[in-house]
Amino acid sequence: MALRIGYGEDSHVLAEGRPLILGGVKIESPLGTVAHSDGDVLLHALSDALLSSFALGDIGFYFPPSNPDYKDMNSQIILERVLLELQKHAPSFQILNVAAVVMLDKPKLGNYREEIQKNVASLLGLELADVGITFKTSEGLALQHIQARVTLLLSV
Ligand code: C5P
Ligand code: MG
Repeated sequence: MALRIGYGEDSHVLAEGRPLILGGVKIESPLGTVAHSDGDVLLHALSDALLSSFALGDIGFYFPPSNPDYKDMNSQIILERVLLELQKHAPSFQILNVAAVVMLDKPKLGNYREEIQKNVASLLGLELADVGITFKTSEGLALQHIQARVTLLLSV
């Protein structure tokens, strides 16, 4: 069995009056992401991690931000398209596990962890126990900023 590793990152500026969506889950927050799509940093980092595992480029290549069609786009559609690209490239690929870190100062996200894990697991066809998500603050260094980093392991 061959193994491949994937890694992806995404970050966005936060502003008032914008939605905050993480792993497809809406988070109650006065600040949300300023973004061209729905600004789901977790699904964007996950999508890039998947593409990078087979050196298939990145989401900007498949969904150029300059294309107005992708404005406010649901990031689950990005992830589905990325999974199709992987299937074309490596039909027997299987994701073994995902490990993600979300950096955000406020609000605390612990209460959302299970819902995010469940949603991401169902999008990827994994068990909840295969989707690890940890949360960190920036210790006040990036109060208007959210960042996600995702690693994953696949078998081919
Ligand atoms: O960044 P810091 O080490 O201070 O975070 C401490 C803990 O706070 C984390 O391990 C996590 O359990 C929680 N946390 C959270 N939501 C955030 C940031 C941190 O639940 N947005
Ligand atoms: Mg700390």
